[in-house]
Amino acid sequence: MELIVEDAEFVTMAAGAGAAQAMLVRDGRIAVMGPAEAVRAAASPGARVARLDGATVIPGLIDAHCHVCDVGYLAAAADCSQPSAPDIPAIQARMREAAGRTPEGSWVTGGGYVEYKLREGRHPTRADLDQAVPHRPAVVYHTSLHACVLNTAALREAGFADGQPDPPGGAFGRDREGRLDGVVFEGPMFGLFERNLRHDLARMGAAQAARVVEMAGQRLAAFGVTAACEADMRRDSFGAFAEADANGLLSQRIYGLVVHDQVDWLLGAGPAQGAQEILRGRLSGRLAAEAVKIWADGGMSSRTAAIHGSYPVPPYGSGILYFERDQLTEMVRAFDARSFQVCIHAQGDRAIETVLDAYAAVLAGTAGNPRRHRIEHGGAMYPPLAARAAALGIVVASQPGFMSTLGDGFAAAFGDRRDELYAFGSWRRAGITVAGSSDAPVITADPLLGIRDAILRRTGDGLVLGPAERLAARDALELYTTQAAFAMHREGDIGSLEPGKLADFVVLDRSPLRADPERIADIQILATVLDGTPVYQSESVLAD
Ligand SMILES: [Zn+2]
Repeated sequence: MELIVEDAEFVTMAAGAGAAQAMLVRDGRIAVMGPAEAVRAAASPGARVARLDGATVIPGLIDAHCHVCDVGYLAAAADCSQPSAPDIPAIQARMREAAGRTPEGSWVTGGGYVEYKLREGRHPTRADLDQAVPHRPAVVYHTSLHACVLNTAALREAGFADGQPDPPGGAFGRDREGRLDGVVFEGPMFGLFERNLRHDLARMGAAQAARVVEMAGQRLAAFGVTAACEADMRRDSFGAFAEADANGLLSQRIYGLVVHDQVDWLLGAGPAQGAQEILRGRLSGRLAAEAVKIWADGGMSSRTAAIHGSYPVPPYGSGILYFERDQLTEMVRAFDARSFQVCIHAQGDRAIETVLDAYAAVLAGTAGNPRRHRIEHGGAMYPPLAARAAALGIVVASQPGFMSTLGDGFAAAFGDRRDELYAFGSWRRAGITVAGSSDAPVITADPLLGIRDAILRRTGDGLVLGPAERLAARDALELYTTQAAFAMHREGDIGSLEPGKLADFVVLDRSPLRADPERIADIQILATVLDGTPVYQSESVLAD
């Protein structure tokens, strides 16, 4: 099986590589890159030829921190997005329809609405949902996943009552009389989402659960994503990925960050799918789980990230630190001793300091950071902390796309330190490996939006956060290719287009390196290719 790709601009991201006008793919790997004549000469007589008409080919994009299973769960919910559901009656109709196919005992679920895009210009309410689904719990998630709307039955089941004050890290929408109007913001929303997801996965058969992660993969493939770290791998989601992999339904290489308290389950009694080997190596070319996920603190948007000092905005306070330094150190030490890569969610400077203390203690006497222990997010990793992280060789998986989507909230919460948040420019200059990621479904999984934001650093309101931290286009693309591949121990196979590597690539209508940065998010994905085989095509650019 050979494929010649030619008449394209190749952005190889390979260090020191010369220009290539063509690429030969053989048995799922890149065999030759170079001038068209050389590639043709190396190909067998029967090789298929794809002429791309001047399109751009880049390495498959890698999302180093994505909640893939959650993306699929939302993709499987009733589509309440705009313009597909232009007004509240349309959402009601979708929810009525979803009620008919949702098994009893599960909440009728919809997702994707944006209140200001609805004809009514407001959130749907509990009363709106009660009209559509009167007798059982129903929820519609906002596209940002920072809000959702519950009907009366769902409010009751969630234990939310009219007289109740706003919960920590969140808020309830209320009507004029002060009664809950069904809208739930932030903190309690995440809890609900998580609970419903776990509950529904537990009730699904293997094929249905596999379908959830298959749908996530289709969404990601349409964004040009060929590999993703599942940032929240658990027993149930792992089963879904393994089932999908066994049936050839994965559209990405999935690298699992296993939630720390589920590791022993995977190592021990384990499922039949060979979990013992998975945690000690690779299950397949498309599914592995070699890392452990630990949460050190809360989030930036909910202002629960653990910081020095306190927030000037609700809920005030200094955030939440889940583990003391010694406890965290012992956890890291134990996982490190068992050969695991450790990935710790840390957003606030106080949490990042604690994590660096733990890593420093565990890595003392070791040359560098051989297991590539990571910090996830690293929002408030200010210069002295970044210098420590660089000296320890810590890898950071971060989210440039937060700039345009959540940046104004960060600016409000961090005041005069706002320019030092997500300081990608300083981090790279300090020598830190920074892997690009989305944290989807918190924001869209579209890496082009992240690349644009890494270059522009502009918030939704037009504020530029840390102009000195802006990256050049090539550096921004590195986050989602070579750097992310390193963050998941796969730089030998993916992240750049070079002979010997896997043929994971994306065909774009324009080069992100030459496009106006303002227009990068508008670049069209023409095809996404994994192992030399398209997993997504917008037009049949690679077909015979
Ligand atoms: Zn996350």
